[in-house]
Amino acid sequence: MRKLNSAQIKRATYQKYTFWVLPAVIAAGWIYPAAGFLLFLCMLGAVGFALYKGRSWCNWMCPRGAFYDLLLGKISRNVQIPGFFRKKSVRIFMVLLIMSVIGIQFYQVWGNLNSMGLVLIRLLTITTAAGIIFGTLFHPRTWCHICPMGTIANWLSKGKKPLYISDNCVSCKLCTKVCPMQLKPYDYKGFAVMGDNDCLKCSSCVEACPKKALSFSKVVQSNFQESRKHSYPPEIMR
Ligand code: SF4
Ligand code: SF4
Repeated sequence: MRKLNSAQIKRATYQKYTFWVLPAVIAAGWIYPAAGFLLFLCMLGAVGFALYKGRSWCNWMCPRGAFYDLLLGKISRNVQIPGFFRKKSVRIFMVLLIMSVIGIQFYQVWGNLNSMGLVLIRLLTITTAAGIIFGTLFHPRTWCHICPMGTIANWLSKGKKPLYISDNCVSCKLCTKVCPMQLKPYDYKGFAVMGDNDCLKCSSCVEACPKKALSFSKVVQSNFQESRKHSYPPEIMR
């Protein structure tokens, strides 16, 4: 069995406090549909944190992300997430689809709190089931690439709590092996900052890097020119 580094152990420990909220809300929601409104708390958390710390909410605070990591991690095929899930057009489509479904169905039952809650519970159940299928077939966090709140958080995350990468990087790719989102920090070597806004700020790669090339503080950047520190790199398409 693969040995976890201290950052991975820490997030798994925190996730044990949050993952159970997902099945609990789904189960409660089918009996007391108004529980569906709790979904808005999760949406607020993702967006609120994104404004200051990027997608850090998705790291261990999002019950769905924690659920997929902890439970699907054991049964997933853990293979490369298909590029389809990373396409900008697919992500925009998912945001529009989910928002439209909520908007139209809310309009139809407006004022009836139980029916409105049921709209959210139905959506939560269907998307969770889809995430379990994708997570089992590919990688536990496959859903997190097309999650509408994750995408909105991605849009708000640019430049928030950046992951710095120094020229010490030798492209050994160990960082990608431990990354819960299968991101590639080494693609940004030379930019000084890792420009992929799907970073969950989990520090797993920082711990895993044998060259100490990654950091969330600027300390490792002593070998960078000032000019490079202040430019934010473009998102590299995969
Ligand atoms: S683990 Fe470190 S040295 Fe290896 S590719 Fe990633 S950043 Fe570069
Ligand atoms: S790039 Fe590093 S900090 Fe960001 S999600 Fe991947 S492992 Fe975590």
